Amino acid sequence: MKLVMKFGGTSVGEGKKIRNVAEIVKQNSNNSIVIVTSAMNGITDQLIGIVEKARKGESSNAVLDTLQKRHEQAIQDAMTKADVRSKVKQEVLGLFQRLKSIVESGTILKELTPRSKDYIISFGERLAAPILAGTLEDLGLRSIYLMGGEAGIITDDSFGEATPLMDITRQKVKNTLEPILAKGVVPVLTGFVGATQNGDISTIGRGGSDYSATIVGSCIDADEVWIWTDVDGLMTADPNIVKNCRLIPQISYAEAAEMVILGAKAMHPRALEPANERSIPIRIKNTFNPTANGTLISKDITVKKGEIVKGVATIKDVALINISGMSMVGMPGTAAKVFNILGSQGINVIMISQSISESNISLLVRRNQLAKGLNALELALLGRSSVKDISFEDDVSAIAVIGAGMKGTHGVASRLFGAVAKKNINVRMIAQGSSELNISFVVSENDCDETIRAVHDEFKLG
Ligand code: ADP
Ligand code: ASP
Ligand code: MG
Repeated sequence: MKLVMKFGGTSVGEGKKIRNVAEIVKQNSNNSIVIVTSAMNGITDQLIGIVEKARKGESSNAVLDTLQKRHEQAIQDAMTKADVRSKVKQEVLGLFQRLKSIVESGTILKELTPRSKDYIISFGERLAAPILAGTLEDLGLRSIYLMGGEAGIITDDSFGEATPLMDITRQKVKNTLEPILAKGVVPVLTGFVGATQNGDISTIGRGGSDYSATIVGSCIDADEVWIWTDVDGLMTADPNIVKNCRLIPQISYAEAAEMVILGAKAMHPRALEPANERSIPIRIKNTFNPTANGTLISKDITVKKGEIVKGVATIKDVALINISGMSMVGMPGTAAKVFNILGSQGINVIMISQSISESNISLLVRRNQLAKGLNALELALLGRSSVKDISFEDDVSAIAVIGAGMKGTHGVASRLFGAVAKKNINVRMIAQGSSELNISFVVSENDCDETIRAVHDEFKLG
């Protein structure tokens, strides 16, 4: 089989774990395998912290030293052969030199553009890739590592959330990887990282390594994409919130997309698209329990008898905007105006609800975009339109119940909101798309975990 295997930060977080990952690859090496690696866990966050400090002119030398030590230790623990170790160490030290010099310039100038930020945060994956490739070599496999752009992942220049240019990418990735695979060499690609057509390094958004894996899978027509992580698969709820959550053995792309968009498995919201388009099955598997089957994500929508809801997911860092005015009633174009204003500011609306009285529109946006959104709406609407009041709540979370079994099933909403009401929890906003795959609602952030547990119990998901 032709497989893409992506290893998450939790699976490559230290030398011994990298060794474990390399052993998993070796055990599967009767297949043609392309590897996509994340940064060691926590590194991307630390690099973002370094950028923020540099912009204030503050030094990050101490953090950089800790980062370097952690990678050197990983090399020590992952590999056994002195020559392989020393080759990888040279590469990693060279990368640190480059990283330190750009951070130093940014700190002096107190300025780092989004392009420079992407360059800096790409180092997480760029450091992990040679260590994993070296460990494979240490185990007797032939391997090379490639940056996303070198492998052929070409993006637009929306640094921070760059979009792959799929037609170009498809051709380039194929041209690069096929000859490598034909020689029996295992390519290790940096996830999360691409390059613009001008050759500038770009990143494709947080959790982007999963997305890189499905992009590559689609480009090389992989038989399957395996997303290796630290839990057995996609679970009925976040295991950190619901102790008795269960593994979902099979789920459709459409249902899984609803879950990951709502934050399940910290996956990039667009990660399933390339696989869905080409019907490439995705397996989510546990590096710490590799023989378990994991979750299979595929086209098939299977609804087991009696199964209504498959999972519950949540996004926590959101805020609600309420736009109201009696004279909005019967005024065509109000909603269009609102969405145009937010769209022109680059603000993504996560959830929308309007009552039939038309005197109120509620929107959900990311919390870090609230201030920008409110300012733009106030400026454009207050005193200049039928909108009379714009208010917000910034202490809310969105929850969604997901499952193809809800379609056409009566009484799901009453069970759902009945269970929430029994806990005395107030629901602030509700939305259901006509796909009936998902019912989403908003509660106060403090009530979020309890709400999830109540819903999980109500639908007997545990
Ligand atoms: P990786 O480092 O492999 O990319 P992430 O940390 O990005 O892993 O995502 C895996 C984590 O997502 C799990 O450890 C788990 O805590 C969390 N998670 C939240 N919701 C879910 C869910 N419904 N199913 C599985 N994992 C979930
Ligand atoms: N390292 C990146 C992040 O933390 C990409 C990823 O891990 O998927 O977002
Ligand atoms: Mg992740």
